[in-house]
Amino acid sequence: LILYFKGDDRLDKWQDIKNQIISYSKDIGIDKIGFTTGEPFWNIEKILREHQSKGYNSGFEEKNLNLRLDPALSLPGVQSIISVALAYPSRLPDCTLDSKKARGLFCRASWGQDYHLVLREKLVKLEQFIKSKEPGAGTLIMVDTGPLSDRAVAYRAGLGWLGKNGSLITEEYGSFVFLGELITTLPLEPDRPVSNQCGQCNRCLKACPMDAIIDDNWTINCQKCLGFQTLNKGCLSDEVKEKIAGQKYIYGCDVCQLVCPFNQDKRNDWHSQFKPDYELINPVLEEIINISNRDFQKKFGFMSGSWRGKKILQRNAILILGKEGNSQDIPLLKNVLANDSRPEIRAAAAWSLGQFKQKEARDILKTQLNIEKEDNVLEEIRKAIDVC
Ligand code: SF4
Repeated sequence: LILYFKGDDRLDKWQDIKNQIISYSKDIGIDKIGFTTGEPFWNIEKILREHQSKGYNSGFEEKNLNLRLDPALSLPGVQSIISVALAYPSRLPDCTLDSKKARGLFCRASWGQDYHLVLREKLVKLEQFIKSKEPGAGTLIMVDTGPLSDRAVAYRAGLGWLGKNGSLITEEYGSFVFLGELITTLPLEPDRPVSNQCGQCNRCLKACPMDAIIDDNWTINCQKCLGFQTLNKGCLSDEVKEKIAGQKYIYGCDVCQLVCPFNQDKRNDWHSQFKPDYELINPVLEEIINISNRDFQKKFGFMSGSWRGKKILQRNAILILGKEGNSQDIPLLKNVLANDSRPEIRAAAAWSLGQFKQKEARDILKTQLNIEKEDNVLEEIRKAIDVC
């Protein structure tokens, strides 16, 4: 606990440094900044344990719970955490597209350049600024992949409240904000958390295509969340395939944020790095399915939506084609089922062909039943023939 008394010179000094940090953060394009102490996040321990025991975690979280709760285990001597937010665009750009071709969608957090790099670059500048003022300061930067919960930090630092959909909601930019933090040994005055404004609203609970929002206590079942499932490299249930295909997201999901009343009047379109290119964020599915590794890296490699590789995006694109049901796509799916070397992709093509419920698709599936060697693909072909 940092105890200072009015008139104490040290208070003036740290308050002055805090003010300079705030002012500098604006110079480098950080949209919102807040401060909290370096104390452990005991308030979320029960929730995190529950998530673990009930299997709600995505699997991408830090496994060591103590590291997630106690900043001092990441930076000994930590006294403060500086939480920052960058707003990202919430609206699709206006443009005319070739509407004859089926397209999929990247979620908004993946539009433009990978935010991990953009935000880290700003935090590095902030770190250099702090060290120029206090050379002895200990510092550590975290953006998404650090052990601490960015949202828990941002909430305690007063950036916004935790909505029922698990997002951090700011007054100014809604929940379309990227979060990161800089933890430091400097004793900076903490800000106060803001009160929750969700009230009786439950739009996100109703809108979630997977019923993944368990209750109003920041409890999301990540294993159900469609955004997580689009990244899941494992076996998808038929329900999940249906939902991915129906929502048309090849990466992530924005549904619970799009319905939130606090996001309705926000555009957040001023950061050039996140300016979306419609052809990339809403790509033609056929192109994604046929893209080479080299072209994928060249075209999509700079987006955060590429981090799980092209295979899951191709699988999702194939699922969407089945739901779209355009007969012109049947030859493409036939080619994938017959010739793709990856069993997961052939299985997705079988599911997708089954959705057409046409003789042409059924004949392709029957032919392939006699050629396919992989058990799980064979099972998918049989299921597809049954529904076709
Ligand atoms: Fe809260 Fe309603 Fe937004 Fe859900 S949709 S996060 S309940 S305000």
